[in-house]
Amino acid sequence: MAIMRLGRAELKVMDLEKSVDYYTNVIGLEETGRSEGRVYMKAWDEYDHHSIVLQEADSPGLDHLAFKVEKLEDLAQFEKKVELFGCTVRRVSSGARLAEGQAIRIETPTGHQVELYHEIERLGKKVGSVNPHPWPLETRGIAPHALDHCLLTGEDVETATRFFMEALGFKQSEKIMTVDGEVMLGSFLFTGNKAHDIAFVKGPDKKLHHAAFHVDNFYEVLKAADILSRNEVQIEVTPTRHGITRGQTIYFFDPSGNRNEAFCGGYMTYADFPTITWTEDRIGQGIFYHRRELIESFMKALT
Ligand code: FE
Repeated sequence: MAIMRLGRAELKVMDLEKSVDYYTNVIGLEETGRSEGRVYMKAWDEYDHHSIVLQEADSPGLDHLAFKVEKLEDLAQFEKKVELFGCTVRRVSSGARLAEGQAIRIETPTGHQVELYHEIERLGKKVGSVNPHPWPLETRGIAPHALDHCLLTGEDVETATRFFMEALGFKQSEKIMTVDGEVMLGSFLFTGNKAHDIAFVKGPDKKLHHAAFHVDNFYEVLKAADILSRNEVQIEVTPTRHGITRGQTIYFFDPSGNRNEAFCGGYMTYADFPTITWTEDRIGQGIFYHRRELIESFMKALT
């Protein structure tokens, strides 16, 4: 039994049409369906029906994240492990959302809703799967390859980490610790070969810090900045590098205030990857490698 990857994020947005316009024309996702107040979207390099679901709501934030498991039978096994850990879990029936089969919905120790699923309709990549060209001719906006990772906040990062590692089989690529080594302030977790699929930093429970999309290289991050400026989207952090993950990044906000990131690079991981430790006194360099200090909004703006 195994979790393959982050499959989707359902984001709460306040003005559905304005958000669809942003995620379509600025981010460059493709709308793949609508049903019951939700809009389903995918990136051009993704083959499943959707990776982003926009849900109209009174306040922004994250409805849930979902990870795709290898086999349908894995759901029952993960259900047992989650219960054994002491977290609540319930079944979501097939067809509860568009193009999706059954899922299990878990409340994590930080109060976030996380689903595991296997079945989802497959639409295919925009470049096809027979003699494909490397990228489609018609793209809009930033045109990321895929949803990459999400960062959430929670009061107890250590327990959240234990839950993802012990119940869901994630590994830890990096952690941020207080200088005395007593308290975990940040945790970067992967399943597969990425530097992170999900991460936690210490902060209020149930909150979203950002949802990140994968782009090819640093020029694409720079081009994302150009596209954002052209569209007068609020950019929080202009293109730079993370010490943590070594990735290159830009942060900005969707029309509801949900933080987005365009991310590239980062090293590969394997199951035996030795966890990297950052100490709190070097956290500025860990997060913004060049600036070497945090900015206030980055710590405070959460949805
Ligand atoms: Fe990120």
